[in-house]
Amino acid sequence: MSIADEYDAIVLGAGAAGMTAAAVAATGGLRVLLIEKSAQVGGTAAISGGMVWIPANAKMADAGITDTVEQARLYLRHCVPGGFNEHLRSAFLASADAAIAYLERNTSVRLKPVVNYPDYYPDLPGATGGGRVLEPVAFDGRMLGKHFRLLRPPLPEFMLFGGMMVDRADIPHYRKAGRSSLSAARVACTSATHWRRGCCTRCCARTSSSR
Ligand SMILES: Cc1cc2nc3c(=O)[nH]c(=O)nc-3n(C[C@H](O)[C@H](O)[C@H](O)COP(=O)(O)OP(=O)(O)OC[C@H]3O[C@@H](n4cnc5c(N)ncnc54)[C@H](O)[C@@H]3O)c2cc1C
Repeated sequence: MSIADEYDAIVLGAGAAGMTAAAVAATGGLRVLLIEKSAQVGGTAAISGGMVWIPANAKMADAGITDTVEQARLYLRHCVPGGFNEHLRSAFLASADAAIAYLERNTSVRLKPVVNYPDYYPDLPGATGGGRVLEPVAFDGRMLGKHFRLLRPPLPEFMLFGGMMVDRADIPHYRKAGRSSLSAARVACTSATHWRRGCCTRCCARTSSSR
């Protein structure tokens, strides 16, 4: 039997684009082969900020932020004047929120709006002060079991103690832990959880690969 008979979809590259394509094909019932040339999956997304820009997403409304596709179209028209790839822009604006909703319904992807993260050109017409950017909800890497070692580690600059990932909401507390007892308590709690689990990105990757 040839490989073309065994699979309905063959995806090259296990970065964000390839993994999403493969996941969507698999949730649609296709037999999928995902081929990655490096030793680990994740591509650039593994070392990125992990945020996606989804204007007029349903989570903004839940957070009390008003946005419309037309406002986003206005913003993009000012950011990228000239009407290039208008059909792609329209497809993105029409489908972005539905794509996120599909991933959340059918996979383990969970996203939350960053309410205080403005558009990159906040003074342009149609810009918002936050909410269009969605970031991943924390995911417990232990759920991946032995596959954790396949995941490309984040940049060391994004981690503490050589492997501890910090939620965006924790960063201000780490910065003022010496001045606020509330922040000190939160830092102690998150750090203790990290050490108690004995689980950090790099340690896990090392121990798993040496098994
Ligand atoms: C520090 C940093 C922060 C960023 N932050 C953000 C952010 O917050 N939000 C945002 O939207 N974007 C961000 N980006 C950009 C974003 O991460 C990338 O645009 C995105 O991850 C690209 O994904 P991709 O799947 O298209 O390509 P890649 O991540 O490049 O994945 C391609 C994969 O294909 C594999 N491959 C290549 N050739 C072959 C082959 N012939 N056969 C098999 N496999 C192959 C590669 O090894 C790789 O794993 C950031 C980028 C960086 C560097």
